[in-house]
Order: sequence, then C-alpha cells, then structure tokens
Amino acid sequence: MTAITTYPCPTCQKPATWTDNPSRPFCSERCKLIDLGAWASEDYKIATQDTPFSDELSENQH
Ligand SMILES: [Zn+2]
Repeated sequence: MTAITTYPCPTCQKPATWTDNPSRPFCSERCKLIDLGAWASEDYKIATQDTPFSDELSENQH
C-alpha cells in the first residue's frame, strides 16, 4: 500500500506530489520559475516606488 500525499501547487493550484518532485513545493519547474519571477517583479516595483520628493518646486518666485 502506497500513500502519496498531494497538495495544491502554490502557483497553479493543481495537485502536486511532494515525493520524487525536484520542483517542490511546486508541481513543475515552470510554476517554480513563475513564482520566483513574481517575487522579483514585486521587489523591483517596491524598489522603484521610492522616489525623492523635491520641495524646492513649491517655492514662489515673483
Ligand atoms: Zn503548478
């Protein structure tokens, strides 16, 4: 009797197996790369969001 534990893939929610799966916790290498890419783009978006605000533009010149 063999008990294979399956769980939903974090990326595509398809049932994946933990044993004999080099791409765990993902169901495939593709889903693994998709998840890593999502993290990278998210991190890049946060990094570029920090823009310095120039207060000198509010100075009135007559
Ligand atoms: Zn998947």
